[in-house]
Amino acid sequence: MKALVYHGPGLKGWDTVADPEILDQTDIIVKIDITTICGSDLHILKGDVPETSPGTVLGHEAVGTVQEVGHNVTTVKVGDRVLLSCISACGRCSYCKEGRYGQCLGGGGWVLGHTINGVQAEYARVPFADTSVYKIPENLTNEQVLFLADILPTAFEVGVLNGKVSPGDTIAIIGAGPVGLSAIMTAQLYSPERIIAVDLADSRLRSALLFGADTTINATDAVKEQIMGMTSGLGVDVAIEAVGTPQTFEMACDLVKPGGHVANIGVHGHSATLHLESLWTRDVTITTGLVDSFTIPRLMRLVASGKLDSSLFATHHYPLSESMTAYDTFSNAAETNALKVVLDAAKPPQPVAPASV
Ligand code: NAD
Ligand code: ZN
Repeated sequence: MKALVYHGPGLKGWDTVADPEILDQTDIIVKIDITTICGSDLHILKGDVPETSPGTVLGHEAVGTVQEVGHNVTTVKVGDRVLLSCISACGRCSYCKEGRYGQCLGGGGWVLGHTINGVQAEYARVPFADTSVYKIPENLTNEQVLFLADILPTAFEVGVLNGKVSPGDTIAIIGAGPVGLSAIMTAQLYSPERIIAVDLADSRLRSALLFGADTTINATDAVKEQIMGMTSGLGVDVAIEAVGTPQTFEMACDLVKPGGHVANIGVHGHSATLHLESLWTRDVTITTGLVDSFTIPRLMRLVASGKLDSSLFATHHYPLSESMTAYDTFSNAAETNALKVVLDAAKPPQPVAPASV
C-alpha cells in the first residue's frame, strides 16, 4: 500500500510500504476514506518529537471503513464506517476507567502516527478498537466527523471544559489556528458574553470572526490595554492559550481576572515564566492537559443536530495520493490561508496540465 512516511527531520515520502496486519486480537484494519494533517505532524517533521522513529507512517485523524477485525473485537464489524481518534484507549487501566484516555497506561494514549504507524495511508492498523473507534451514524458525512478526531475535542476538553467557560463570561482565546478556532466554536455552547480572539495573522482573525468571535485583536497591538478596557480593568473570566509559546502562556496569565481560569492547550517546547509574584493573591486556576477525546460522542451529536458546523475547517481538498502537495499547502498556511486540508481516497488525481509548447 501507499503511505506518508516520516524519514527523519525534514524528510518524508509517499512510499510503498507493507500492508498493515492484525497484531493483537483487539486490533482492526481500516481502509482510510479521508484523513487530514495536523500541526503536530509538522512538529514531528521538524524533529521536535524524538519518540517518533524514522519509518513511521504519520497521521492521527481519519475516517475509514473496517476491513478486518481481530477475534476479540465485538463492537465493530467489517464494513462499518468509523472515526479514528488521535487517542487510543486500552479501556482497562486506571486512567481509562476514569475516561482519561490520553493518560492511558495500557499501551494507548497518542500512539497513532506517533509511536506506531498512523492513518495517512491507504490502510491502517488500529489498536484497542472496541474502546478507541467511533461508529458514524448514517446521516453524517465523512467530512462532518473528520475534525472530531483531534481539534474539536482538544479545544472543547482542554480549553472550554478545563477553563470552566460559563454563561456570561468574557473569554480571550490566544491563537486562532484550527485549535483556537475550535475553542471559539465550542465555547459558544456555553453562551459567553464575549469571545475575544488574539492572533498575529489578520487572515486568522478574519476566520475567528467567521467561527463566532465577537472581537479580534492583533497580538502586535496593545492587547492588555484593549482587554482591560473591555472588562472594567479586571481582565477576562477565561484565557485559553492555543499557540504553545512562552509569550502566549504569559499573556494568558496576564489577561485573566482575579478568580478566573487560564486553560493551556498549546504544546510547549520551552519553559515559560510563571509570575507567581503577581498571581499568588489572585485566586487564579491554571490548567494543562492532553486531549482525552471522551467528548467525541457528545460533539458528534452536536454536529448531527446542526449546533456545530464542522465543515468550516476544510479549506483545501486533495486526493490521498497527493499528500505531499497537501503538506506543502498546509505548512504554508500564511500564503495559502489553509485551515485544514482533506485527503480523500476517492478523489481522482488532479489532471496534469498539458505542457505548453
Ligand atoms: P497553529 O500553529 O495552526 O495555530 C497557531 C496560531 O497561533 C496561528 O494562527 C498563529 O498565527 C498564532 N500565533 C503564533 N504566535 C502568536 C502570538 N505570539 N500571539 C498570538 N497568536 C500567535 O496550531 P493549531 O493546530 O491551532 O494548534 C494550537 C496549539 O495546540 C499547538 O501548540 C498544538 O500543538 C496544540 N495542541 C495541543 C493538544 C493537546 O492535547 N493539548 C492537541 C492538539 C494540538
Ligand atoms: Zn488505558
